[in-house]
Amino acid sequence: MRRSKRKILGQHFLFNKNLIKKITSVINPKEQEILLEIGPGKGSLTKSLINRANFVYAVEIDLHLASELKKRKLKNLKVINQDILKIDLKKFFEDNKVKREIAVVGNLPFSISSQILFWVIKYRDLISRAVFLLQKEFAEKILSKHRSKKYCPISVLFQIYFNPKIHFKISPHSFSPAPKVESCLVELIKRDKPRYEISNLDFFNEFLHKIFRFRRKTVENNLKLAGLRIEDIRDTLKKSKIERQERAEELPMDKIYALWKNSKKLFDLNSSL
Ligand code: SAM
Repeated sequence: MRRSKRKILGQHFLFNKNLIKKITSVINPKEQEILLEIGPGKGSLTKSLINRANFVYAVEIDLHLASELKKRKLKNLKVINQDILKIDLKKFFEDNKVKREIAVVGNLPFSISSQILFWVIKYRDLISRAVFLLQKEFAEKILSKHRSKKYCPISVLFQIYFNPKIHFKISPHSFSPAPKVESCLVELIKRDKPRYEISNLDFFNEFLHKIFRFRRKTVENNLKLAGLRIEDIRDTLKKSKIERQERAEELPMDKIYALWKNSKKLFDLNSSL
């Protein structure tokens, strides 16, 4: 395959058997679960998973890799040649008559990790948990708390629905070809109840991107840039108990949620915030 295509699809394959064993024991498939592996690639992790899980669905976008894996006719495995982001998980459950909980796992292609995580949030009701290999920098963002430089929309979004945990770091030399950066194995354990009820996730996500848009600017200035009137912003900040000089990265999640509730009506719901 051309190098550029390999790069776009984030193809960095695992080959170290001990590491694959270690990842499999963290995934530790449960009796009541089946697994959905995103991007099985050459199947090194897949092979280890099918020995431990009831069943594995493996979704691979690359036609060649998917066909090679299908040809091996491995037991307990169904290979699907698809873009994971185009899979409607609800329909997938119906079509495949899935009766058990589904745990989503994989060594994710770095370039679309955040879109995949958003996909996981979208289908959270059908997913019991997720275990992913992610870029270390990105994993740390998911776990970040306010007042950290890494605290960002993805931290807030994820911590509403999941309790994220980093299990261990993985060196670039554990992959072939080696990526430029370190990775982490991250487990996303679903909270019993979301921290807050968010009625429109896309809308909330857009709101988060607005308040975090320029990290050095205050929330007040970022909301001004989003087109809100200064009197309305000040009133909303006051109601949300946020000081005028505060920046989004300084706000604990409770304050961000209060700001969301108080400013929602100020945006025209028909516009894109
Ligand atoms: N699981 C294999 C391993 O650990 O050796 C491969 C992991 S590699 C980092 C990422 C895999 O995801 C590649 O096989 C790539 O082709 C596949 N991939 C990339 N984008 C995808 C998408 N949108 N949907 C499904 N698979 C995708």
